[in-house]
Amino acid sequence: MSDDQTSEEELASDFIRNVVRDDLAVGRTETVVTRFPPEPNGHLHIGHAKSICLNFGIAADFGGRCHLRFDDTNPAKEEQEFIDAIKKDVHWLGFDWNQHLYHASDYFEQLYDWAEHLIDKGLAYVDDLSADEIREYRGTLTEPGKPSPYRDRTAEENLVIFRRMRAGVFEEGSHVLRAKIDMASGNINLRDPVLYRIVHASHPRTGDAWHIYPTYDFAHGQSDAIEGVTHSVCTLEFEDHRPLYDWLIDNLPTPSKPRQYEFSRLNLTHTVLSKRRLIQLVTEGHVSGWDDPRLPTIAGLRRRGIPAAAIRDFAGRIGVTKSDAVIELELLEHCVRQLLNKTAERRMAVLDPVKVVIENYPEGQSEELEAINNPEDPDCDKRMVPFSRELYIEREDFMEDPPKKFFRLAPGREVRLRYAYFLTCREAIKNDIGEIIELRCSYDPETRGGSAPDGRKVKATLHWVSAEHAATAEIRSYSHLFTRPNPGAENDVIDDINPDSLMVMKGCQLEPSLVGFEPGQTVQFERLGYFCSDPEGTANKPVFNRTLGLRDTWAKIQKKGE
Ligand code: ATP
Ligand code: MG
Repeated sequence: MSDDQTSEEELASDFIRNVVRDDLAVGRTETVVTRFPPEPNGHLHIGHAKSICLNFGIAADFGGRCHLRFDDTNPAKEEQEFIDAIKKDVHWLGFDWNQHLYHASDYFEQLYDWAEHLIDKGLAYVDDLSADEIREYRGTLTEPGKPSPYRDRTAEENLVIFRRMRAGVFEEGSHVLRAKIDMASGNINLRDPVLYRIVHASHPRTGDAWHIYPTYDFAHGQSDAIEGVTHSVCTLEFEDHRPLYDWLIDNLPTPSKPRQYEFSRLNLTHTVLSKRRLIQLVTEGHVSGWDDPRLPTIAGLRRRGIPAAAIRDFAGRIGVTKSDAVIELELLEHCVRQLLNKTAERRMAVLDPVKVVIENYPEGQSEELEAINNPEDPDCDKRMVPFSRELYIEREDFMEDPPKKFFRLAPGREVRLRYAYFLTCREAIKNDIGEIIELRCSYDPETRGGSAPDGRKVKATLHWVSAEHAATAEIRSYSHLFTRPNPGAENDVIDDINPDSLMVMKGCQLEPSLVGFEPGQTVQFERLGYFCSDPEGTANKPVFNRTLGLRDTWAKIQKKGE
């Protein structure tokens, strides 16, 4: 794939798509059905986006369909807020499940019937051991497990107790339903895995109807089978569960026989993609919420100004394999810059302003200068930018005593103001403590539009805003949330948090067209980077998040690796 080609332009190929292609070719599959099965116990992150792009992408590539199914089997941890946020995020990423929205809880009655079916066949039993005892009896990788004293209850006895479990007679932890498979199996997942546990918690959808809830292992494959999922794609940690997945499908009268395939999960440098970790960051207040722009959550990335199309491009580039890899965050940033360079409109903003007074520009006068909204887009609109006697420029664009390679403004030095005139600095005015508070300058009226009739050149072009017309804004600038590329690898992950990951700049000056920008709209501030309007901003006080700087470090990293 050439560097500037997005993966969306070509049909992806990977080992899972190859399986699908073969299944279609030999007629094992007629219509491809995949699903994305989030547990609504947190918000989605970019790792989930990989899975979403894969599942919905396969369905789209092969003319099938992809279901959104909430794996809502643990009411103690799951909330409606998360269900709503997940739906919003999947849509925002550009995918649609159409009418195929499901919940594992839709199947609770069917799953329960199948549990009784297993009991009838002598393939499941109620165990009264405690969780700790069950763990102890399970054995280890090198030692076989030993059977529970309750393993040989009769089907009749199991049924009676199981029904009473359902009715809410017992305390949590007093009984579980287990599959009766093989306590000596080399695969620990087959040593009589738990199928149902007692939970006395209100469920977001089924309320207080249930006192027992199926485990992931029991709910997942059966839900796939009920929905006619053909290819159940999940991450590698479920590889060892596959024999159990198949055992259950083989021993139950399911309406279809789905198959499970595993791929490696996404890991990214300088961040964490474990839901447990993300929950910790949010609940302990290390970030402002699930949509903190420093988080790798979909909500955080969106608020940061990262477009959905860049995430899809990223997912395409990282591909789908079975080998564990850590992807450099710079690759994601590269995808974002490539896209925003083409699509983001340009504006001018001054983050750290110093005032410029143009002594030979008439007081009280102003004019409008034409500026191009996006030089990368030949059809783009133009806009008018006001210019007047007093401007702001970036403080770092002036040096009183510049070193050799500094070509920007300095006393006696002429530069170009973007879309405007040549400007020459006459004098820097300082306050009592020696800080520069104002630059007295002159301009050349003959250079309107940015070139001199006599052909003289300048070495720098600066961005600026007209002081009288500017809007004062707050800008939030972000860097890595974690100082180390692999947070938590050497110590507690919380100790790796970067204390300087958020920098708030107040008093930034924006050109007037930036006022009233829709929240979520991303622009390029000329020479500075990409910025996204934040929902906390108002017309009086716009707030922008810095998405990324302009410099791309990905190419450098790749070269280093060659
Ligand atoms: P939990 O530890 O709570 O199970 P989870 O991240 O696995 O967390 P789920 O809601 O179960 O969360 O995930 C939904 C789907 O997203 C699963 O199929 C899972 O395999 C996939 N997924 C989760 N994290 C990643 C990741 N980092 N890369 C790729 N896929 C992922
Ligand atoms: Mg999971």
